[in-house]
Amino acid sequence: MKVPATKIQEEMSKEAKSSYFDLPALDVSVAFPQATPASVFPKCTSDYYQLDDLLTSEEKAVRLKVRECMEKEIAPIMTKYWEKAEFPFEVIPKLGALHISGGTIKGYGCPGLSVTGSAIALAEIARVDASCSTFILVHSSLAMLTIGLLGSEMQRQKYLPSLAELSSISCWGLTEPDYGSDASALRTTATKVEGGWILEGQKRWIGNSTFADVLVIFARNTATNQINGFIVQKDAPGLQSTKIENKIGLRMVQNGDILFKKVFVPDEDRLPGVNSFKDTSKVLAVSRVMVAWMPIGIAMGVYDMCHRYLKERKQFGAPLAAFQLNQQKLVQMLGNIQAMLLVGWRLCKLYESGKMTPGQASLGKSWNTLRARETVSLGRELLGGNGILADFLVAKAFCDLEPIYTFEGTYDINTLVTGREITGLPSFKPAPLRPQSHL
Ligand SMILES: Cc1cc2nc3c(=O)[nH]c(=O)nc-3n(C[C@H](O)[C@H](O)[C@H](O)COP(=O)(O)OP(=O)(O)OC[C@H]3O[C@@H](n4cnc5c(N)ncnc54)[C@H](O)[C@@H]3O)c2cc1C
Repeated sequence: MKVPATKIQEEMSKEAKSSYFDLPALDVSVAFPQATPASVFPKCTSDYYQLDDLLTSEEKAVRLKVRECMEKEIAPIMTKYWEKAEFPFEVIPKLGALHISGGTIKGYGCPGLSVTGSAIALAEIARVDASCSTFILVHSSLAMLTIGLLGSEMQRQKYLPSLAELSSISCWGLTEPDYGSDASALRTTATKVEGGWILEGQKRWIGNSTFADVLVIFARNTATNQINGFIVQKDAPGLQSTKIENKIGLRMVQNGDILFKKVFVPDEDRLPGVNSFKDTSKVLAVSRVMVAWMPIGIAMGVYDMCHRYLKERKQFGAPLAAFQLNQQKLVQMLGNIQAMLLVGWRLCKLYESGKMTPGQASLGKSWNTLRARETVSLGRELLGGNGILADFLVAKAFCDLEPIYTFEGTYDINTLVTGREITGLPSFKPAPLRPQSHL
């Protein structure tokens, strides 16, 4: 008797399901035993020109301490969280114990690091995981620094000690759905009422905002039309933050869309040092130096991984590292990293001597992200198929670099800041559109 085709298909699909499709994926070290996955982090081979020689003993110690923690504690768990797009709350006490949060701020339980020390710490975090470094950047170099530089003495004493320990977490909200690059035109309003202020509006992309205890928020004063800053408590009635889903980079970072519906902020939580958008420039000067170091860390991690991988995996009877084309790519990556490190280091020295200009900081950020983009792209190629798996770091780093290329001023905006400084001619706004002439 002839069995109907549909019946055959049903049976085949039942069998296929039980024998293939129900099985979990093989552990990558079993499925692909030739190369060590990123959970065992490679030793650092990317610091070819020995940056340590340019660092103080305190900066070297910070570098070592952060590197050890990241390689041992974070590398083994990061892929799991990145895949699930969840924040690794279990790492907060470990990052807190490093005593780097608060960076350059002195007193109030903060470490009082040099700008170089703080930047090196961030790069070492980014070398292993860029989401963790973004978490620290937003918390420490944006929110804490705003309170440190532009807050009142009472606000510093009240907020900084627990933020430095990471026993409370902060975020920093400037960007809005309609105002990204054009942030100074933001529309969230702050209206003075008895005893405080009412915030009304929206923010977008705000890192850490879904769980932050303290939100540093910028809004337009309805009386003066100037930008003011506020510290908003997580449980303030009318405040809501929703996670932005489906990101392809920095997947562990919880970026939120924030709604302010008549949120009351008491007078004591208005930041007295923010009276116009220009006042944020003191914070952005430091944070832009910090951001310029994140692509350095990311590119170093990718190079370190590629260097180990190419020696471990063989094709055509030889390690991949033996092929001239692969060596050329490795050397190009290494050259980029040395140049990026020197740009980053020089930027720190210019800042520390009080000479750094906004254009110099912007060039450091834009140029380093551009070189890092090239570096991680070469790294992705070098790992072949495994270059698209998060298990070997480079695919993850490749994706993580994209938002860093875009945040804290996109590549273009930072380029235009430098362009304006070197020519004296701003070119942010297009020429006014002329009415169409009918010839
Ligand atoms: C993962 C992630 C985390 C972030 N975290 C935070 C945070 O914690 N806090 C916060 O406040 N913000 C945060 N941001 C927002 C970030 O700073 C903005 O995304 C960024 O400023 C760019 O704004 P936009 O996305 O609206 O792009 P748009 O401004 O819409 O720009 C789109 C494109 O147009 C180009 N462009 C815009 N204007 C010009 C011009 N004048 N000339 C030439 N080109 C131009 C840009 O370069 C870009 O290529 C985050 C963003 C991301 C992706």
